[in-house]
Amino acid sequence: MHLRAPDESIAHTVAAVERFVETAAERGIDEIGFTEHVYYFEQTRQLWSMPYHLERCAYDIEPYVDAVLEAKRRGHPVKLGIEVDYEPGLEKETAQALEPYPWDYVLGSIHFLDGLAIDQEPSLVDSLGEQAAWSRYYETLARASRSGLFDSLAHPDIVKFFGLEIDWDWGAVAGSLNGVALEVSSAGLHKPHGKLYPNADLLAAGREQGLPITLASDAHVPQNVGRDLDRAIEHARAAGYETVTVFEQREPRQEPLG
Ligand SMILES: [Zn+2]
Repeated sequence: MHLRAPDESIAHTVAAVERFVETAAERGIDEIGFTEHVYYFEQTRQLWSMPYHLERCAYDIEPYVDAVLEAKRRGHPVKLGIEVDYEPGLEKETAQALEPYPWDYVLGSIHFLDGLAIDQEPSLVDSLGEQAAWSRYYETLARASRSGLFDSLAHPDIVKFFGLEIDWDWGAVAGSLNGVALEVSSAGLHKPHGKLYPNADLLAAGREQGLPITLASDAHVPQNVGRDLDRAIEHARAAGYETVTVFEQREPRQEPLG
């Protein structure tokens, strides 16, 4: 989830963490992970060329890291993560920007490709059409998974955001992801397309190829912690999953699902 105030403004404070923790406890969730978008942090400015990223790249990363670590010290069941946009060709620079901090896990994601947005219009699909956009997206996702930067891939079929879902070789996609976990997320239920991430066929292919999963509600405000997580769990079970991956200092272990 993204560490924000109830009005979604940036709030990288321990009080903000505790609002999420409270809601999680009320909803019977054992632990939560924070994965703020990396592009908010000025320490990553050298990675960005898109105006969307550069406009947001204005916050110090230290208060974010400190807020989550302080919550841990207070005994709250929280994990320090980050959602990192994969920038092909800047793997070394990305690793250097992440290196100073004690992440529990790093989510990899793709929101822009070739200067075009995936979940904003005009989108990659608008420009290239489904077939070419999906090819570009999944070849880049495979490259992201081989980079060694990421523990789990956030919303791994986000390229469906505006378009139709087309037939695809999901076995080949799952086989190209180098064993990196797939994030099973309920956030898509609240996007215009109204679908879980990833689609059932990709998830089943991931299961077949032995890819682990993580779970997410991708909450950007405390009131959405764990929203529809039961549906994400059901989705994972339907694909044959029985465990979810929990990370500690980037070491994965399996825990029973739900
Ligand atoms: Zn994302």
